[in-house]
Amino acid sequence: MEACDTPVIREEGEHLRAKAMTQNGAAGDSGTTGGKDGGREKREPKRRVRDFEVAVAEVRMETKDCATLFLAAGEPMDYEAGHFITIDPHQFKFLEHFIAHLEDQKGQREKPRAYSLGSAPHEEHLIVTVKEETYESGQTPYPPLLSPLLAYHDAGSSLTVRGFTGAYTYPKDIRERTDNILHVCAGSGIVPNRGLIMNSIHRGDGLRHVLLFSNKTRDDIIYFRDFQELQERHPDKLEVLHCITREDPAGIPNFRRGRIDADLLRAYIPDPGNCFVFSCGPGITPHARRAAKERGERPAPQFVETMAALLTEVGLDKKQIKQESW
Ligand SMILES: Cc1cc2nc3c(=O)[nH]c(=O)nc-3n(C[C@H](O)[C@H](O)[C@H](O)COP(=O)(O)OP(=O)(O)OC[C@H]3O[C@@H](n4cnc5c(N)ncnc54)[C@H](O)[C@@H]3O)c2cc1C
Repeated sequence: MEACDTPVIREEGEHLRAKAMTQNGAAGDSGTTGGKDGGREKREPKRRVRDFEVAVAEVRMETKDCATLFLAAGEPMDYEAGHFITIDPHQFKFLEHFIAHLEDQKGQREKPRAYSLGSAPHEEHLIVTVKEETYESGQTPYPPLLSPLLAYHDAGSSLTVRGFTGAYTYPKDIRERTDNILHVCAGSGIVPNRGLIMNSIHRGDGLRHVLLFSNKTRDDIIYFRDFQELQERHPDKLEVLHCITREDPAGIPNFRRGRIDADLLRAYIPDPGNCFVFSCGPGITPHARRAAKERGERPAPQFVETMAALLTEVGLDKKQIKQESW
């Protein structure tokens, strides 16, 4: 996939390129890719990105290591489904010494981390869903900084967040292109796709959605109930298939065992010319890319790179695909 055209966003007189914000949370390289048309078919008007305070109104544990934070902003929020916010870890006083130590070790300032919005603009709260990263002795070079704090956050506190930006949004002319949207997601990659699906169903825009959602086990599924209910209420607009890779979900409706492969994609894309795909999940991180380069190797493809190759194999053009990864 080619990198998409990156939007220039205005921020208090300063111009930033979204692409320059690095992945892994840095002020937000969205890791969004797509063909020129798939990514940003038309240059959008400049969007003002700013800081604002939100109250954590509710916290819902989605899985054992992943929580959804319902954020109350106290004012109307101007964002598009699929956008992300960033959260600067320096705002948390109790992290001060830990951050200083990490910055010494890494030789650089810790950057804000990006979090996709799982909410759609019509919903009462902004929602973010954060999965705790882990520290694996001998495997991960540093402990994770922000995700453990957010994944086990309590309601009642407040946060400063910055938004909104990102290119993982509906092309403006989506209805002229197709009425079939395929969502190909893994793990926390479901987050922006929840917003996209909720937004479309709320608007009644005539799009029909199929969600192929890959997880290791049934207990790893984020938003399970949300999607069950949505599918029951709108069977003509949403179909969900859970692809479970490390358990046998035999007998459970809408579940199958195994990874998303070319045969499954073919079955859900009978006409490759009449489909648009949003695919989100783990991708090659800048750290992994750099480490592979130092070893003189190519980085191993992750979920989104594998899906990009499979979607091309089944006949989709780059213009028909948007991807986001972290
Ligand atoms: C557009 C976008 C949307 C995102 N949306 C979500 C979302 O909805 N939900 C979600 O849970 N996450 C999301 N993320 C990921 C999120 O931004 C964070 O990367 C994630 O929460 C981990 O942050 P952390 O501070 O806990 O870990 P970090 O401190 O960033 O560490 C993560 C890993 O990177 C390694 N690492 C850190 N620094 C270095 C270094 N200098 N060199 C080598 N290795 C290093 C660490 O050892 C660790 O293994 C998104 C990312 C992007 C770009």
